[in-house]
Amino acid sequence: MIPFVDLKAQYRQIRQELDEAIQSIIDRTAFIGGGAVSEFERSFSEYLGVSFTVGVGNGTDALFLALKAAGLGEGDEVLVPAMTFIATSEAVSMCGATPVFVDVDTDGLLIDLEQANRKVSERTRAIIPVHLYGQPADMDSVVEFAGTHDLAIVEDCAQSHGATFNKSVTGTIGHVGCFSFYPGKNLGAFGDGGAVVTNDEELAERVRMLANHGRLDKYNHLIEGVNSRLDALQAAILSVKLKYLEGWTEARIRNAAHYSESLEDIPEIRVPVTLPDRRHVFHLYVIRAERRDELMEYLKSHEVGVGIHYPIPIPLLEAYAYQGHNPEDFPVAAGASQEILSLPMFPELSQSDTDRVSELIRKYYHA
Ligand SMILES: *Cc1c(COP(=O)(O)O)cnc(C)c1O
Repeated sequence: MIPFVDLKAQYRQIRQELDEAIQSIIDRTAFIGGGAVSEFERSFSEYLGVSFTVGVGNGTDALFLALKAAGLGEGDEVLVPAMTFIATSEAVSMCGATPVFVDVDTDGLLIDLEQANRKVSERTRAIIPVHLYGQPADMDSVVEFAGTHDLAIVEDCAQSHGATFNKSVTGTIGHVGCFSFYPGKNLGAFGDGGAVVTNDEELAERVRMLANHGRLDKYNHLIEGVNSRLDALQAAILSVKLKYLEGWTEARIRNAAHYSESLEDIPEIRVPVTLPDRRHVFHLYVIRAERRDELMEYLKSHEVGVGIHYPIPIPLLEAYAYQGHNPEDFPVAAGASQEILSLPMFPELSQSDTDRVSELIRKYYHA
């Protein structure tokens, strides 16, 4: 059996360190705020090379709080790629603004700025490039585009911890970066967690305030906010794991290379393209496959864990029926959603595992 992800393998590796970190928080009974959270925020800032990190409750809230702190609200429009997880557009609606969906490019399934250009209106205030599967969007073009149209850039880095574009780390290129520490993400907590990162001190302060009932000290509420804090247990766990992130990322990249070497000559398959000037951190390893659904069933029947990210382009979900879209509005995303297949991907995957998966795919296509 080769699972899609194996969180236990990672825990086994660093069990003692994690158990001690957890126990120390319990011993201190400082569960909300306190040293463990600020310590993690400091080390995450240092890792990314950014001035400010604000720990929050989860990645969806990170996006919501970043948008809200950037002043987004009712009547505003935000450009969102059609191929992402629903959290990206949910966050836009949560702050009262409207997501405007944009198709993606064929190679990377990243936001297509030509279509974005046709969807800009006088209400457009922000763009959310999603660094999908761990591959950075073309941030040079996003920055230029946002400059032309005077838009805030809110990077969705939920899948791109440590990914770079032209040597700049995702999350630090736009105005604000939003991370998820959901357990299965490249840096994962033992529950929900997230962070907003920025070099803009005022923005960081606003996020911190909004995430903590609109206050900076105990009962001095300047505005109404929400309750969305990173808790101390998660922060302590993340501080331990952060030290290993680079090694884990290198292992993901190695695993991806092993897959691609074994699969790239199969005519029915397209292996993922790493676009120029990027470090792709392979949160997911996603192939395009002919007869995808049959291949998926074949792999499952041979005890290989696989997934589809994502089976329905976001604007075509029932939740967005009110926008009245059809697949022809997003031809690339709609086409890709029928072909994409995510293979097992996690740092501890061995080469014999990737070889076994590749061998099965080869057998399936008689390649
Ligand atoms: C996981 C994810 C999110 C949301 O993060 P949560 O911590 O689960 O709220 C947002 N965007 C993308 C692209 C994601 O993959």
